[in-house]
Amino acid sequence: MTNHRIKTRFAPSPTGALHLGNVRTALFSALRAWGGGGHFLLRIEDTDRERYRPEAADALMRDLRWLGLEWQEGPGVGGGHEPYRQFERAEIYARYYRELERSGAAYPCFCTERELEMNRRVQRAAGRPPRYPGTCARLSAEEVERKRAAGVPATLRFRVPANSEVRFTDGVHGEQRFRTDDLGDFIIRRADGTAAYLFANALDDALMGVTDVLRGDDHLTNTPRQLLLLQALELPAPRYTHMGLILGDDGAPLSKRNGSRSVADLEQAGYLPEAVLNYLARIGHTYESEQLLSLEALAQAFAPERLSAAPSRFDPQHLLHWQEEAVQAADGARLRAWMGIDALVPPGYADEVVGAIRGNVRFPEEARDWATRIFGPPPPLDEAAQQAVQGAGASYFTAAAAAAREGYNRYRGLIEVLQARLEVKGKRLFMPLRAALTGRCSGPELQPVVDLMGSERIVERLERAAEMAATGETGDKAGAKTGETTGETPDQRER
Ligand code: GLU
Repeated sequence: MTNHRIKTRFAPSPTGALHLGNVRTALFSALRAWGGGGHFLLRIEDTDRERYRPEAADALMRDLRWLGLEWQEGPGVGGGHEPYRQFERAEIYARYYRELERSGAAYPCFCTERELEMNRRVQRAAGRPPRYPGTCARLSAEEVERKRAAGVPATLRFRVPANSEVRFTDGVHGEQRFRTDDLGDFIIRRADGTAAYLFANALDDALMGVTDVLRGDDHLTNTPRQLLLLQALELPAPRYTHMGLILGDDGAPLSKRNGSRSVADLEQAGYLPEAVLNYLARIGHTYESEQLLSLEALAQAFAPERLSAAPSRFDPQHLLHWQEEAVQAADGARLRAWMGIDALVPPGYADEVVGAIRGNVRFPEEARDWATRIFGPPPPLDEAAQQAVQGAGASYFTAAAAAAREGYNRYRGLIEVLQARLEVKGKRLFMPLRAALTGRCSGPELQPVVDLMGSERIVERLERAAEMAATGETGDKAGAKTGETTGETPDQRER
């Protein structure tokens, strides 16, 4: 029986790009379902036509798929509760509006935005939370008819029962109690005829058989209203779990303005989906494992009682940490495509390059930089590298270039002969070499990098360094003289 299973949902409003805060809601909803052998539903909440962006729905589905958050029910998949875009569900909603109006649980409201705003101001000034004063709740049937006939635009409001209490148990916050007198009658259909969020969202959860709603804390106060609606419609309510929000660096809820990035931006920058997922899974939820986990493993170990009620801060450094983990764990062929280095390295060498540099790379850009440093023209020297070259002096590089020309052009051989001839060791032995050959004093392990470089490039770079050290020049001019690529492929190097 399907109703024994867990069904969660992600119900985004397609108003713009999918951001990290939203994605975490989607992720936890999916994990909750999958971990419990249930399924995850996607519903597009696009009834607010003013904020609706047509391209945003497709984009968010693409983003979810890129992350691996595939839905088992929803747009493009089906599932028996079609349609899954709310704007296409107007006929379904109409039935329930009629039912609510017939029973007196809803009434048309003709108040203008100006009148409502005036009322809100008066209430705020009196130190009360702004609530609808119930003006249209008291209209007689004749008055309603007259206004209707005159074509006065109307919203539909839900009549909140007076002097009562709504109780529910939240998955994170525990027992909740709300006095209905604090809620105020709320709009369930806008004047343009579209379904308002509180209504369409709760109704669809019930009609679609959603058992568990996980969403941000900012929705906690919507829940009593939604429960009242479901009660009036005699529909089942899901279990609600409200999670602590993610905050930006300014302490306000994470948004574009304070450090959140869209999924599309992160993908563009080269973040791997598993890095994003592993980071988000640990914001406001604890995992025992500090390893990079697959979606399946994240789902298995997901537990609602491990969710936190407190807000958490977005920390870009943590995201970077998971990116490093994800790159180190990724399979070589995938990394090769991700790095996009094929055009920068001689044919047949890309896999070796991936192996040589992957430990020092977090983003494709960095990988392409290393590939270019190895196989491109002699790379520019950064400041530390310039100092290392000047510090070693021309004699070091003259000796090194000579050794390389003699055929000591593999890392081990070159280092050994230099050690013997120059009587230096340790850092003073290999740092000048690293600086002259790669233009930097840090980076991937030198041996595979040097061995990939091949004889001609090594000689050229060492001669350039000898000249720099002799003239005290810092690269640009000296580099320009020998700055052409040799065109040599590693195949031509002596092995
Ligand atoms: N469409 C709503 C939103 O994007 C859904 C909120 C909810 O999960 O209930 O905020």
